[in-house]
Amino acid sequence: MDESLVAWLDGHADKLDSDTLHADALPAHLAEAGLFAVGVPESEGGDGRPLSAAVDVVAGLAEHSLSAAFVYWAQRAVIACMLASPNRDLLRRLVPDLLRGRLAGAPGLSNAMKFLGGLDRLRITGAAAPDGMRLNGTVAWATNLRRHGFVAAIAVGDEQDDNPSVFALPHDLRGVTREPDLDLLALRGTNTAALRLDDVALDASWQIHPQARVFLPSIRPAFVGLQCGLGFGLARASLRAGRAALGNRPSVLCGEIDALDADIAACRQTLCASLDDGSLRERPRDLLTLRLRMVDIAAAAVALELQALGGRALLRAESGGYARRAREAAFLAVVTPTVAHLKGDLARLA
Ligand SMILES: Cc1cc2nc3c(=O)[nH]c(=O)nc-3n(C[C@H](O)[C@H](O)[C@H](O)COP(=O)(O)OP(=O)(O)OC[C@H]3O[C@@H](n4cnc5c(N)ncnc54)[C@H](O)[C@@H]3O)c2cc1C
Repeated sequence: MDESLVAWLDGHADKLDSDTLHADALPAHLAEAGLFAVGVPESEGGDGRPLSAAVDVVAGLAEHSLSAAFVYWAQRAVIACMLASPNRDLLRRLVPDLLRGRLAGAPGLSNAMKFLGGLDRLRITGAAAPDGMRLNGTVAWATNLRRHGFVAAIAVGDEQDDNPSVFALPHDLRGVTREPDLDLLALRGTNTAALRLDDVALDASWQIHPQARVFLPSIRPAFVGLQCGLGFGLARASLRAGRAALGNRPSVLCGEIDALDADIAACRQTLCASLDDGSLRERPRDLLTLRLRMVDIAAAAVALELQALGGRALLRAESGGYARRAREAAFLAVVTPTVAHLKGDLARLA
């Protein structure tokens, strides 16, 4: 990890969580460090390393700021959509700017994921029109909606609110409204807001894939696998803070801290190996189990940090980053696929 980026993140982590002030500076710093090209094939302008290298970037960022790690994930998730798209013209048009961070990518696909899991109806409808399609509806949440411009990945249902396809939506089309930032309890510096689409004309050149039912499972290892880095990094930061709070004193907590550290290393190893050999595509149950385990590991690590700090955890001046990490861990349980969603999917696959 670039040292100046780490210094900036450490200096701004609390503000990135509690404030919207640095929301546009954050992705600029990530781009400057060249991180968006990590794990992207050289033929597409990337660094040619395996996808697991991007998991390590997510984890490395999450050790310092989950807001930074999640914004990175959002941009990287949209890049993963583009790389998997059969629409090579769209890829050539957008990927170079996404890799350099000149264009912001906002993944607005949790509605489609919930729809495919039978948990929600499609919130955007496309009606055929002479100039392509007319879109109406909302994206309830999307991160990385930079005010000066973005492209969002969205799912669009047909007039029966069925058969979703996946599109890239540029910010500057007539009828696209980026709502004000959501009033979040945490991760406020992530440019997270809703989008409203009022009779937006979109032509076929923006189509990422004609069938979300085929496309979303195909990108799930990248989408969900990269998310695992969020919890690994956050947990490592909490365990480090827990150890620091204990000092060199022997403690009843040391064994649990060491065991969790070993658990993170083992999960990371399993995830990275099976992401890179492509086998997770055929093993959705293993992928979802790892993703659920990541949330549990992060929650357990934050709990150990609290136990190591004792009462200091509740003192503003002495808690270090504990309060922020506790909020960040709560976020991990509700980001799509949420813990409830994962439990439902795993029960179905059992
Ligand atoms: C900071 C932040 C940034 C975000 N950024 C994005 C983004 O960039 N893109 C995006 O698309 N979304 C984003 N989201 C949205 C997020 O990822 C989730 O979609 C949302 O937070 C969870 O949806 P939900 O409230 O419906 O919770 P869910 O957990 O989906 O649903 C809650 C309810 O449904 C029930 N339920 C869930 N699963 C099942 C089941 N299988 N069977 C029965 N009942 C079930 C639960 O018990 C609960 O009552 C963001 C959210 C946050 C907080």
